[in-house]
Amino acid sequence: MIQKVKNYISSLFLWELIKGLNLTFRYMFKRKVTVQYPEEKTPQSHRFRGLHALRRYPNGEERCIACKLCEAVCPAVAITIESEPRDDGSRRTTRYDIDLTKCIFCGFCEESCPVDSIVETRIFEYHGEKRGDLLMTKSRLLEIGELAEKQIAEDRALDALYR
Ligand code: SF4
Ligand code: SF4
Repeated sequence: MIQKVKNYISSLFLWELIKGLNLTFRYMFKRKVTVQYPEEKTPQSHRFRGLHALRRYPNGEERCIACKLCEAVCPAVAITIESEPRDDGSRRTTRYDIDLTKCIFCGFCEESCPVDSIVETRIFEYHGEKRGDLLMTKSRLLEIGELAEKQIAEDRALDALYR
């Protein structure tokens, strides 16, 4: 009964509305925290898991040795690798695809790679407009690796102890 009376009085005097407006006015003059993206950006962790890339050694040689650990560990079955031995006996990939429509950006591929070849970069501003745009082929992954190598190397150096 007492609760009913309380509810009646609070609805009669629009108490909930007053509480809501009070909150609005309290924040009206506080410092604004909304980020004006894309002009403003929030800080990124050096472990950010964005667009994938394949890396090369400083002499230009591909790091990937086609061990297929990343393909095996990928929970989304997003990686497809084909490989064959070279004339010098080393093994390299002939096909390395990542289907970004399947990828869940878990980072398992980069964690499993013994030679730091497949990595996730800080790049997150990308999109696809037609079917196939989000299928990353080996050449595209290597291209991204070349473009972002400086940042990738710096980020890996920060994790040197852990890795
Ligand atoms: S980030 Fe995860 S889901 Fe995406 S390709 Fe790597 S292992 Fe697969
Ligand atoms: S990217 Fe790394 S884990 Fe994947 S096949 Fe190449 S060497 Fe192995």
